[in-house]
Amino acid sequence: MSARLVLMGPPGSGKGTQSAGLAAALGVPAISTGAIFRDNLARKTELGIEAERYMSVGDLVPDELTDRLVEARLAEPDAAPGFILDGYPRNMEQVKALDTMLAKTGKSVDGAILLSIPDDQIVARLLHRAQIEGREDDTEPVIRERIGVYHSKTEPIVGEFERRGSLHRVDGMGSVEDVAVRLRAAADAAIA
Ligand code: AMP
Repeated sequence: MSARLVLMGPPGSGKGTQSAGLAAALGVPAISTGAIFRDNLARKTELGIEAERYMSVGDLVPDELTDRLVEARLAEPDAAPGFILDGYPRNMEQVKALDTMLAKTGKSVDGAILLSIPDDQIVARLLHRAQIEGREDDTEPVIRERIGVYHSKTEPIVGEFERRGSLHRVDGMGSVEDVAVRLRAAADAAIA
């Protein structure tokens, strides 16, 4: 059985925290485009330096760069049985790019899971994370920009997965453990 899942949600919804546990439970890698960009930036690669221009202001890194990175990552052997994509796709163009890259090997996305939290929780959670992790894009003006980008560019793809009948909604409020249980149930339903 394959598990090719997209994990969506606003910044601060807990995608990063939850995707690792879910991926381990399903025996597939969690692939976070944001984490890959941050790792490249830490190593000062060309990709990281290019991505930083966008990340530092809360904008999306250009699709061409992001799609290429995801295609290369999905071609690695550990992603053969599936993957949890955390933070990709983030706009309609990336949804199409993902469909196209999977179709090359006769595959498709099994389902998308939307982790939701109320808007007023987003800023509070991210400012809290800023104190713990010190992420450079967790400052208030950049957080506001990222929320705006989420609403204008990423939210429309929720509708797309809904139209496909492959959207599963999970309440992201509560303890990490409680959310993990709900998420696992949604993932099981998505890949059933
Ligand atoms: P995240 O860790 O998912 O919050 O992503 C942090 C930042 O990385 C975002 O604000 C974007 O600048 C960039 N990023 C991550 N994923 C993508 C993506 N799929 N498309 C474009 N930019 C992305």
